[in-house]
Amino acid sequence: MNKVLVTGGAGYIGSHAYKALRAAGFTPVTFDNLVTGWEEAVKFGPFERGDLLDRARLDEVFNTHQPVAVMHFAALSQVGESMQKPGLYWKNNVEGSLNLIEAACDAGCMNFVFSSTCATYGDQDNVVLNEDSIQQPINAYGASKRAIEDILRDFAAAEGLHHVIFRYFNVAGADPEAEVGEFHQPETHLIPLMLDAIEGKRDALTIFGTDYDTHDGTCIRDYVHVCDLVDAHVLGLKWLMDGKGDRVFNLGTGTGFSVRDVIDQSRAVTDRPVPYKEGPRRPGDCTKLVSGSTRAVKELGWSPTRSTLDQMISDAWRWHQTGHYNT
Ligand code: UDP
Repeated sequence: MNKVLVTGGAGYIGSHAYKALRAAGFTPVTFDNLVTGWEEAVKFGPFERGDLLDRARLDEVFNTHQPVAVMHFAALSQVGESMQKPGLYWKNNVEGSLNLIEAACDAGCMNFVFSSTCATYGDQDNVVLNEDSIQQPINAYGASKRAIEDILRDFAAAEGLHHVIFRYFNVAGADPEAEVGEFHQPETHLIPLMLDAIEGKRDALTIFGTDYDTHDGTCIRDYVHVCDLVDAHVLGLKWLMDGKGDRVFNLGTGTGFSVRDVIDQSRAVTDRPVPYKEGPRRPGDCTKLVSGSTRAVKELGWSPTRSTLDQMISDAWRWHQTGHYNT
C-alpha cells in the first residue's frame, strides 16, 4: 500500500491528516520530534520519532519506508512566539524543511504537499487574498513559510520536485469522533483558549486589540474546519499522483469572523458565558485575513462541509469535553 510520510503527524493538523489518509487507502507514516505533538495522537499507522534537523535520521526513515509522497506539517506556528524568537523559526521551519526536501529528492520521493499559511500575505487592507496576491509577511512565522515556498520552487526547477502548497487560513474544530483534536501546550489559539476559559480551566480570555479598523474593532480571520482542510490535502496528494502540475491553493471559506463574533458563537454553542477582558494588540497580528479564492474548489474539487463557525466550535467543544490525551 502507498506510504505517505507525514511530518508533524502527532500534531493537531497532522493527526487529522493521518486519519484522512488512512481512510483514503494510504499508509501514513508519522515523523515527529514530539516537541509540540503527542505520541498518543498517532493512532492510525507507524510512528518514527525524529527531528527534521537530523538529516541522517530522515535518510533512515525514507530508506525504511520508501514513501511515495511527503505531507509536511511539522513546524513551529505561533505568530507571537515568532516575533520574540525569530531564530527558532528560521532554524526549525526553514532549515528543517530544507533538510526534508533534500532528503526527499535524494530518496527519489518526488511528491510533496506543504502546509503554508495565509500569514505569508501579511496585512493587505481591502485586498482580496488569492494565490497570486503579493506575499509580504509581517511576522517571522509567515516569513519562514514564504521562504520554504521559495525553496520548493527552486527544487521543482532544479530537481523536478512535484509539489502542492496549501496556504491555510485559521484552522479550527476537531475530528467529529473526537479521536484526535487540538491540544497545544502552551495553548495560544483563540478557540481552545476560549473553551478552556468557559470551562474555568484557565483565566478569562484576553482579546488582543479592540482598536482595529474592523466592524467591532477586533481582528478578522477566516476559519476553516480541520477535517475539511485535511480532505483538501488528500485531494492535493491525488492531484500530484495523477501527474498534475505544481500548484498553490488557499484553504479558507471566504468568510471572515471577528474575535467578538467567535466569542458570541461560542456562547451560543456552549450555552455558557465566555469570561473575557480587553487587552492590547499582539505584535505581528494582521487586521484581516480572509481568502478570496475558490481555486481549491474549482480545480481540486474541494467541497468543505463542516466549516461553519457553529460546526467548528461544536466539534471543538465535543473534543474538549470528551476527548483528550493523557499527557
Ligand atoms: N486572539 C485573541 N486572544 C487570544 C488568542 C488569539 O484575541 O488569547 C486573536 C488573535 O489576535 C487573532 C485571532 O484571535 O486575531 C486568532 O488568533 P490565533 O492565535 O488563534 O491564530 P492566528 O491568527 O495567530 O494564526
